[in-house]
Amino acid sequence: MQAAVAIAAAEAIAAKTQGTFGVGGLMLDQHGNVLKSLHNNVIRHGLVFDPTAHGERQLIDWYYAERARGRALPAPGDITIVTTLDPCCMCSGAILAGGFNVVAAAPDRIAGINYDCDATFGALPAGLRAQAQRSFSYPAVLGASLYARAGAGATPRPFFIGKTIAEATQALCALAFEATSREVVALFGADRAREQLRDPATLAPDHRIVRALKQLHPDALTYRCAPHVPDAGLAPFLRQAMVRAEEGDAVALLDAFGNLLLCMSGKRAQSGIRSAFMETTRAYAQLRYKLMDGASAAQQEEVRLYLGHPREGTFVFAHGPDHGAVSFMDLGAWASTMEGPLPAHNPAQLQYVAPRIDAAALAAVCAAMPPLYRDVIGLNPTQVRDHALVAALAS
Ligand SMILES: [Zn+2]
Repeated sequence: MQAAVAIAAAEAIAAKTQGTFGVGGLMLDQHGNVLKSLHNNVIRHGLVFDPTAHGERQLIDWYYAERARGRALPAPGDITIVTTLDPCCMCSGAILAGGFNVVAAAPDRIAGINYDCDATFGALPAGLRAQAQRSFSYPAVLGASLYARAGAGATPRPFFIGKTIAEATQALCALAFEATSREVVALFGADRAREQLRDPATLAPDHRIVRALKQLHPDALTYRCAPHVPDAGLAPFLRQAMVRAEEGDAVALLDAFGNLLLCMSGKRAQSGIRSAFMETTRAYAQLRYKLMDGASAAQQEEVRLYLGHPREGTFVFAHGPDHGAVSFMDLGAWASTMEGPLPAHNPAQLQYVAPRIDAAALAAVCAAMPPLYRDVIGLNPTQVRDHALVAALAS
């Protein structure tokens, strides 16, 4: 146990050195052999690279990618993910959707799924709590410092010889995260306010931003609605993406002007956690990253002006979130994408067309989430206002 957490802690230090969140993790097989270790990659070169690139989420996608390549890996139920920090909602949803086991070192009282440290997982929808109690483990830290704690949650797998974490290693896991979060939050403030944004529909068709956008999504900038009020004209784009995906889901991203930027399906056949939302938010972040990385200050500024932060736009889900693990992951990933409180002028950034559960049940899921989601970001998915869009997608 101690050796595994020490590897995760070394990854967390590497993450801090890279200038991203100081969190690291590794994946162990049923004998305790290390399959893969990696760290948070949200920030690279001082830019947001991928808001979903938390350690646990990347390990799970790595697992599915290796299996798709033909590598014989144990079933998820035989795999243990060891992480320096209690998983956030996105990663917890991904872990539960896949059926993996987890050992978590440091607590995260703001965003961790066990933020209240009682290991009952009241932050999860009721139907997922028993699974979390069976698979999320918080080993004891022996000693008298503020890092000491009793063990909680699931019993660690039998291959762990020692079942505790050393105080100094636990302290390293906590400090590596605390030491970087402020720098990262400062980077998050680099984006432009709504009043400064410029309309990408006014750019020449051969402008590098338009070309990159069209390369990612050929229908980009071909649909436009009133800002934040998608109408029936969006339905064909959502339906087209839904037809492409086996699971029939799609998510569109509209900018602050109402322009369609992206509309993507999931890739759940390749990886159980590549939902339509995960694909869409990652694609947009990486588009901005690709256009800004290594570019001049003036070019970077141009990208920030024409391709605004998603918090100024609207994510439109074809289907609303439900009580399941994948939806919980999506809600968490959406909050990670927002990075902080929503602007007051855009409270309905997350909209859905067809509900899967009623609005009150969905509000209850959000109200139970850890403080970051519930209080700081104010997660508040709402159905689109336009009834014609709801009817058009259903027809
Ligand atoms: Zn996470």
